[in-house]
Amino acid sequence: MSSMRKLLILCLILLTGSLVLLVWVLFVKDDIKCELNGKEKQSVEVFSKYNEKGIKITNRGKVLSKDKYTLKIKGKVITDKLGDNDIIYIVKYHKKKYTLKRVVSVIDSTPPIISTNIETVTKDVCTKKEIQELTFSAEDNYDKDLNEKIERKDTEEEINLSVSDSSGNISTKKLKIVYTEKPKNIFSLNGKNIIYVPINTKYNEKGAIYKDGCGEPLQANIKTTGNVNTSVIGDYTVKYTLEDGESLKRTVKVYDPNIPNEKIIYLTFDDGPGNTTKKILDALAKYNIKATFFVTNQFPSYRNLIKEEYINGHAVGVHSYTHKYDIYKSLDSYLNDFNKMNEIIKEETGTYSQIFRFPGGASNTISKSYKKGIVSEIAKYLTAKGYLYFDWNVDSTDAAGAGTEAIIKRVTTDVSKCSKCVVLMHDIKTTTANAIDPILAELTSRGYSFQVLNSDGPKVQHKIAN
Ligand SMILES: [Zn+2]
Repeated sequence: MSSMRKLLILCLILLTGSLVLLVWVLFVKDDIKCELNGKEKQSVEVFSKYNEKGIKITNRGKVLSKDKYTLKIKGKVITDKLGDNDIIYIVKYHKKKYTLKRVVSVIDSTPPIISTNIETVTKDVCTKKEIQELTFSAEDNYDKDLNEKIERKDTEEEINLSVSDSSGNISTKKLKIVYTEKPKNIFSLNGKNIIYVPINTKYNEKGAIYKDGCGEPLQANIKTTGNVNTSVIGDYTVKYTLEDGESLKRTVKVYDPNIPNEKIIYLTFDDGPGNTTKKILDALAKYNIKATFFVTNQFPSYRNLIKEEYINGHAVGVHSYTHKYDIYKSLDSYLNDFNKMNEIIKEETGTYSQIFRFPGGASNTISKSYKKGIVSEIAKYLTAKGYLYFDWNVDSTDAAGAGTEAIIKRVTTDVSKCSKCVVLMHDIKTTTANAIDPILAELTSRGYSFQVLNSDGPKVQHKIAN
């Protein structure tokens, strides 16, 4: 064989080999490619369904049919819990293993929902309070009840509610505020429309006031006309006029509180005279009113005030010389104490008193521990002798320790429950001494009359309990 021929055969062999190799590479050798359908990092809304998109497997660019390989998916997406879930895809093909991974994040992107009972808030123009109270709640798809987390901010015009869930989704709600219409301005009297003034006392002009609809005082020029002559009994009219002509009237009735009318008050003061008696006498004089004092000798340095009481037209009755309860141990001991006091009254006033009040009142039970039936015994004895005892039907409660305001309130309230009111007070109480002027101001302004107690009554007596 010539060398030329050998070379030709060799080339043929090489060419054939290359062709076989080319065919094997082009048509027989595997070229497996695995890829995820969808993204490698994927998110899914909490509580929604996760859609598994799977993977795509190709061999030399052609989708590999499912019977050619095995696919195992590890991992699960739990969609009712926030967080990352790994999904592992394992593909086996001709003893070869391919692994892919996808991370699925369960997220919450849904904001909470704020609910309110009303959509517009109406506020009172004066008090700035809600006419119907605004109530609100917030419900979240994941956190559920978020009521406590709601933040409320009020401005003059609106109310802003906002709430955030645990994933930072924020919800807001704005409610408009509307105000009620402002009421009309008010022109009114200070004090009552009809006011009584005891004769020969000072009339206190309380005036009138102009306010806006919310009760805020307004700057106003109020002209007051009409004269009250307090030294002449009669009705007087006082007129109050605003600049625009609007006017109000008050009737002032000057009356004599010493002339009995349908409502009679018998003010009584026990246990004095003492260091506050003078102040009480001055207040009574200021209103031209007479009262009754059931006196004691507890504070002998003030006994001259018994005379002053009498001279000023007040009644003086016996209470007790010692004001000690052991006087109830016998009729004699009671009468001894009683007579000693009445002697002092005689010395100060020139006359014995025919009226008295039992220490503790006729209904007291403390006397039981000294002698059974003693109060009945004394009452029977002294009544037979022509004396009259008095209790009370209005208790100022000053002896029980009531304060000045409580005394005023009690007396001015309780006198409306009787037509002949015997009021129990104590002229040795500072609280009472401070309460008496306001009490008299109020009771006289109602036109009540005031009388002293005497043998004619009224018979305001408690049921004897011992
Ligand atoms: Zn007493």
